[in-house]
Amino acid sequence: MNADAAWDALNAVLHDYTPPCDGRVLFTADELTDEQRATCAVVCATCPIADLCGSYAAAAKVDSGFWAGADRSPKRKRATKTTAPGGSRHSRK
Ligand code: SF4
Repeated sequence: MNADAAWDALNAVLHDYTPPCDGRVLFTADELTDEQRATCAVVCATCPIADLCGSYAAAAKVDSGFWAGADRSPKRKRATKTTAPGGSRHSRK
């Protein structure tokens, strides 16, 4: 799925559903502690649209914030590559 299609799918659901990350600053912060990442991951684990969220983040190569259980900030991605394979905040960039 390309980024446009992934966005359309995610955005369609967001018209009728407010995800649990909405308005939570941790999800848009560029630097999170391990504890903060764990907090976000717990929230995402209960989110019914995590598949759509993750699909868009991957397709669009989102490089900031916390999406679908993953910290996508560049600093974090660099750090994790060596150890593992590997606005509403949902405004399109
Ligand atoms: S899966 Fe995506 S939409 Fe759901 S809480 Fe996590 S970041 Fe928000």
